[in-house]
Amino acid sequence: MSASSAKTPQVLDPEQVLQGLHPLMMKGSLLLSAAITLQYVGQWRVMAWVFAANAFRILLNVLLSRVFVRWLPPWVMEWTRLAINVSLLSAIGVGVGWTLLLWSYVPFSMFWLYGMNGSGGARALAYMGVMDAAALLSGCDPREPLAFSVLAALSFLMTEKRAELLQQSLEHIISQREQLARARGELRVLHERAFEQEKFSSLGMMAAGVAHEINNPMAFVTSNVNLLFKDLQQQPVLPEPLKEYVDEVLPATLDGIKRVNAIVSDLRRFARGDPEVYSEYDLDAELKAALRIAQGQLGHVRVELELGEVGGVVGRSQQLVQVLVNMLVNAGQAMAPGGVVRLSSHREGDAGVRVEIRDTGTGMTPEVLRHLFEPFFTTKPPGMGTGLGLAVAHSIITGQGGRIEVESAPGQGTCFTLYLPRVARRCASGAHTGGGVTSAAA
Ligand code: ADP
Repeated sequence: MSASSAKTPQVLDPEQVLQGLHPLMMKGSLLLSAAITLQYVGQWRVMAWVFAANAFRILLNVLLSRVFVRWLPPWVMEWTRLAINVSLLSAIGVGVGWTLLLWSYVPFSMFWLYGMNGSGGARALAYMGVMDAAALLSGCDPREPLAFSVLAALSFLMTEKRAELLQQSLEHIISQREQLARARGELRVLHERAFEQEKFSSLGMMAAGVAHEINNPMAFVTSNVNLLFKDLQQQPVLPEPLKEYVDEVLPATLDGIKRVNAIVSDLRRFARGDPEVYSEYDLDAELKAALRIAQGQLGHVRVELELGEVGGVVGRSQQLVQVLVNMLVNAGQAMAPGGVVRLSSHREGDAGVRVEIRDTGTGMTPEVLRHLFEPFFTTKPPGMGTGLGLAVAHSIITGQGGRIEVESAPGQGTCFTLYLPRVARRCASGAHTGGGVTSAAA
């Protein structure tokens, strides 16, 4: 549903209703005026007078609705229209007598006096009051104004009721349309989610396959290179070219191998979850451990630790440390020297705990936030990031029945909040479903 079509007016606007009735009003008015005039055929002077009064009335009405409408506010328009019609019709009545055809103009006029809550009711009363007063003062039989006033009141009330019913059905249609728009929106979100889940479950399967294929050859590459390194180290005398291997080439190769193994193990964990068993651990102690591990990446910033003495938590502590280290390293990389990273733990009611990792770094754009938990999404230069850290973190935290929320804005730092149940629920991990992301200042 387009944005403009949703802007249907919620209430019928009397002026709009009148605009719609205008052609009919003009035709009816002309017809009645002609009938009122023609009844005086033979009495030519009277007929000329009535014709002139009616023509003048119609001219003023046309001028009012075609020309003056641009300058006058709607309520002034309506009262002026009423004043013109009621005064000229009363003048005809007083001048040449109150005929039935003249009276029939009163209920006819009531059809377009709409809007009991606006000035419609007041105008109807004024219309009838002026006509009746003029008629009675000019000696008209009181039964005529009485009969036509009752008819006019009924016409007005029926128009009013009909408009009210129309209003109700319009509101009903609008509310149905809004419900439909909401349902369509929800359906679109569900469809997008289903699409994402499908994408990530295929990615997960692919990652598991790739990791498995790499894992076996990497096992003997690791072992052979390690063996070679140890053997060469144990040699008492080495030729010069081999010395360089022992001092530089092989340690660098082993570093690279370690990195590949870490990526493979992350991939496997992302795809299938970790076999680590559930146990009770002290959350605050794990926070300290994570800080120790990440310390090397946080040398250039100030680290603040606020432990909420949250006590024991049941879950997978090593996995939690992995998540925290990844987030602390990311925070360190996002901050220039002098930045502050604050790691804190809090109780979250009786059944949960909350861990916050807040930094004063670069923050993230809404675009980065949208892709944050996607595997292989990274903004870091090649060799610096794999884009798996947060995908794995998400998989781990949701796998233990928790959730991650992020608040971030460019230039205003980032805050990752981990919510964990005190006793982890065993949820299927590995399926990526996206995290709670807020693009606000941290
Ligand atoms: P990697 O660190 O390998 O890039 P991650 O999944 O850990 O992979 O992070 C994905 C991306 O999220 C990062 O490349 C970075 O752009 C962004 N990011 C994560 N944490 C932060 C942070 N604290 N501040 C700014 N950007 C961050």
